[in-house]
Amino acid sequence: MSDKPLFAAEPAACHPETLAVRTAVERSQYAEHAEALYLTSSFLQPDAASAARRFAGEEEGYIYSRFTNPTVSSMEKRLAALEETEDCVATASGMSAILLLCMGLLEAGDHVVCSQSVFGSTVKLFAGELSKFGVETTFVSQTVINEWKAAVRPNTRLLFAETPTNPLTEVCDIQALADIAHNCGAYLVVDNCFATPALQKPVRFGADFIIHSGTKYLDGQGRVLAGAICGRQELVQEKLVRTLRSTGMTLSPFNAWVVLKGMETLHIRMEKQSQNALRIARALEEHDAIETVHYCGLPSHPQYDLAMRQQNASSSGENGEEKGCGGAVLSFKVTGDNADTLREKAFAVIDQTQLVSISANLGDTRSIITHPASTSHGRLTEEQRLAAGITQGTLRLSVGLEHHADVLRDILRGLENRPNI
Ligand SMILES: *Cc1c(COP(=O)(O)O)cnc(C)c1O
Repeated sequence: MSDKPLFAAEPAACHPETLAVRTAVERSQYAEHAEALYLTSSFLQPDAASAARRFAGEEEGYIYSRFTNPTVSSMEKRLAALEETEDCVATASGMSAILLLCMGLLEAGDHVVCSQSVFGSTVKLFAGELSKFGVETTFVSQTVINEWKAAVRPNTRLLFAETPTNPLTEVCDIQALADIAHNCGAYLVVDNCFATPALQKPVRFGADFIIHSGTKYLDGQGRVLAGAICGRQELVQEKLVRTLRSTGMTLSPFNAWVVLKGMETLHIRMEKQSQNALRIARALEEHDAIETVHYCGLPSHPQYDLAMRQQNASSSGENGEEKGCGGAVLSFKVTGDNADTLREKAFAVIDQTQLVSISANLGDTRSIITHPASTSHGRLTEEQRLAAGITQGTLRLSVGLEHHADVLRDILRGLENRPNI
């Protein structure tokens, strides 16, 4: 019998699309072709002495699924391969990934510098929850590098950014932020949820930790909550996995399995959904009833060049713009004179859709529309919202895999007030 391993190719020699399908398959003795789902809370130990060695960390072996599980490990290895990091730890959700990172790396008296444009719950976690434990956060402009520099203090331990952001797709310069972090002995953390490793690999620009909400594009089909942190092995194991074991923010094997299978189609989905988003963004930009389109794949976007440089990790296609690297989320503002009219017009666009879903999620194969001012950013004051660039006329569209013309027609129906198109 041949002793050829079931996965013979050297993973490092393969393209990311291949890694997404072929890496990290933990086969059982039955040699199943698809990834097995190890739905078990604990693992049998061969004998008392082995159990003792495994608990003491002297011997490899699965013990209990709060610590490790083969399906979860597979998901972690596959994501680490795509992010080009040494290691990865999976968590129950994107927010628990950020919480685990903070619990593992910070202590009372530490300081964080964070972009003011990050995900709403991330702002609440830093400003509300972590401040209760003596961790202080300074929020700065996503794009003004001098604000980041000025905010750094001797006790700054983390710089936290997200690029592109929700809903305005603001892009920050990862390399510049990594330089600031490393000059002051801090780590740079990048939430890579919107671009995903299919488009952007933050580690190539110096990021130390990469955060994921697997709930979004990694699953890609709106089924489960999941999260992950990618980074250097020593830090992930010593600082994060250790904390995970005693805090229990663990990902369930079932959800890990769903995300593991979702990642197989990540590249092809991101490419196609980005192309769809670009086409829709271009059409909306031409429309009279629209004041602005925010999409970092459009040349009119203020950080277009930076976005095309940073978000161009895909190995397929030649030309950055057409191959689709802007990501699949865009937002736009309808025209109107005052807040009431803007809101009325924005609601009309939402309410006249027949295809696009009205839902809070994003990153699904189904296109989703939301009104940030009354949902994700509803708890901010009107002033805070305007400072963040979100008006009552702003709509966010997460573009899916439907034909772009069908999605566009669905959006235009409300804009043109033509219920029958
Ligand atoms: C959704 C999201 C999160 C939080 O992820 P959950 O899985 O919902 O906890 C964090 N960051 C970004 C950018 C997100 O879009």
